[in-house]
Amino acid sequence: MADFDDLLAANAAFAETFELGGFDGVARAGVALVTCMDSRIDPLGMVGLSPGDAKIFRNPGGRVTDAALEAIVLGVHLLGVERVLVVPHTRCAVAGATEPELRRRVAESAGLDVTWQRFHVVSDQLETLAYDVHRVTSHPLVPDSVTVGGFLYDVDTGLLERQV
Ligand SMILES: [Zn+2]
Repeated sequence: MADFDDLLAANAAFAETFELGGFDGVARAGVALVTCMDSRIDPLGMVGLSPGDAKIFRNPGGRVTDAALEAIVLGVHLLGVERVLVVPHTRCAVAGATEPELRRRVAESAGLDVTWQRFHVVSDQLETLAYDVHRVTSHPLVPDSVTVGGFLYDVDTGLLERQV
């Protein structure tokens, strides 16, 4: 049971100064952000926000999946979201390899056949970003009052550049 001891010890220290108790969970800054699971990304810090300010949805590639759209609709209607940022990034694993390459690498690690596992590789990041932003803006439950932007995050400079 020691597998998580270091993290639970850190959590106990975290809870000593925890100040979000009782907060209702709306996005205080009215922001929702869809981005990649990449460990180089600090989704709140990169736009000057803090816990409590924004809804964050992450997955490989920062894609606007059906689940991301569910989150955005909930955010817009129930949790105060007024602006949505879709943020893929440079040097992303799912944009820098083909599906067969990723499958080969995972197969090598797993020692198993992984041809059944999809990874939703992105072949053209900016074209995909435009498509994903359109998925949000064209959703019947996302009103025109919501501002949606597509940005590329540079993991080497920390800068966001608007693309859509
Ligand atoms: Zn990534």
